[in-house]
Amino acid sequence: MDTARKPSWLRAKLPSGPGYNAVRKLVDEHKLHTVCQSAQCPNLGECWSRGTATVMILGNICTRSCNFCAIATGKPTELDLGEPARVADAVAKMNLKHCVITSVARDELKDGGASVWAATIRAIRYRNPNTAIEVLVPDFKENFEHIDTVLAAKPDIFNHNMETVERLQKPVRVQARYDRSRAVLRHVKSRGFTTKTGIMLGLGEEQHEIEQTLRDIASDGVNILTIGQYLQPTPQHWPVARWVTPEEFIRWKEFGLSIGFGVVESGAMVRSSYHADEQSEKYTGT
Ligand code: SF4
Ligand code: SF4
Repeated sequence: MDTARKPSWLRAKLPSGPGYNAVRKLVDEHKLHTVCQSAQCPNLGECWSRGTATVMILGNICTRSCNFCAIATGKPTELDLGEPARVADAVAKMNLKHCVITSVARDELKDGGASVWAATIRAIRYRNPNTAIEVLVPDFKENFEHIDTVLAAKPDIFNHNMETVERLQKPVRVQARYDRSRAVLRHVKSRGFTTKTGIMLGLGEEQHEIEQTLRDIASDGVNILTIGQYLQPTPQHWPVARWVTPEEFIRWKEFGLSIGFGVVESGAMVRSSYHADEQSEKYTGT
């Protein structure tokens, strides 16, 4: 398949307008990192123009090096203890009814950053009692104690992405594991939380592997599933194996709903935090 040229359904909106400028200013003034920028998300123009962004806490340098991800890898800087309050303030100023917070992996920290996660959730809730809080977290190396620290702050939606099918975990997501991510999602579900996960298509997965992945995570009780097209951030990253058609995305959505997911968002531009308020409203009531 010729993957050099993007198909027409993948053309993103250019950033513009007062909404975009306001988000840009807020992010700069509050010295925040966003996954929108760091991961080179193709939806930045659209989301920021709608006045929404996904804040990335715990710095912008990740201790892991997933082959699909544009976020810088290396030795993270020290912890920024003022960050939770600034994030909470930014959420208030964006006037969000639903916010999504994510982070880099901080495997070098004793608790993987769980205490900062909990402080951030609490600070957001204190300033924004009516805002639904969705967290997109790393696997904390399957340390349930650290995950429980995050859960104690009571996020409304707990998201941890599977990213890809089992066979491609090792090459694409070097330090992560399929069974470990599933165990995290099962643990969070067993604590009574709404769970969410996402995968990318176009990394080289086979149809039967996608089906198996969806069946596995449905059996883990995951409520919300997102499926999007993988885009190669730079020529050094994992190559795009194919462009998934809009018809195939619809097929996976229908399949996902038929095997028990409560919500499935499936489309080329879908990302965990793309229109996350709409993805989750069935569970958050926002
Ligand atoms: Fe940011 Fe998520 Fe929108 Fe991408 S989809 S621009 S990461 S809010
Ligand atoms: Fe990117 Fe997350 Fe992998 Fe870090 S752990 S490289 S932020 S996908």
